[in-house]
Amino acid sequence: MRIPKEIRKLADALSSLPGIGPRQGIRLAFHLIKKGEGFQKSLADDIKDLSAVKICSDCFYIHSNPGELCEICSDPDRDKSIIAIVEKDTDLTSMENASKFNGTYLVLGEFGRGGSLEPDQKLKIKSLRSRIKRDGFSKAKEIVIALNPNPQNNFLSAQIEKELDELAERITRLGVGIPSGGEIEFADEDTLGGAIEHRR
Ligand SMILES: [Zn+2]
Repeated sequence: MRIPKEIRKLADALSSLPGIGPRQGIRLAFHLIKKGEGFQKSLADDIKDLSAVKICSDCFYIHSNPGELCEICSDPDRDKSIIAIVEKDTDLTSMENASKFNGTYLVLGEFGRGGSLEPDQKLKIKSLRSRIKRDGFSKAKEIVIALNPNPQNNFLSAQIEKELDELAERITRLGVGIPSGGEIEFADEDTLGGAIEHRR
């Protein structure tokens, strides 16, 4: 079947997104045609607006504030001496939705399959040192390692813990609630809230 090149091009771009295969890419592209020009234009504008999104210089979460810091890092009511280390931006948003954590974050970025930390992730962990000192603490009160519980991440958590050992009075992990192999991103708010409250 011949598919116009405009659709083919869009389908290729869409199928590079997580969870979307080539067939779904084509299906979505056809669907967008049916949605009409108004929808296409507003979607294109929304995508264009993403170029205004920046990465926080402290925690590496995305933001669109005028300065360098995200909303959480620039909020004077957040406890800068408590830092949760998460893998993905969406883990941070899930933790925020659970409303049980008033510290700040460090977003490492997605782990590769290799089972060890990437160089840029190691740099991010190192950046915590100057961040803690700059905020006037000799040590963080607590660093929470909030990674999805699975065997690879348990290994990574131990690695991170070793790197941060002398940087925090207490290094904790999320408590029970999220089963091994489960994901923070998809945990319901009560479960995740409980895991945050019962960190140890
Ligand atoms: Zn931030």
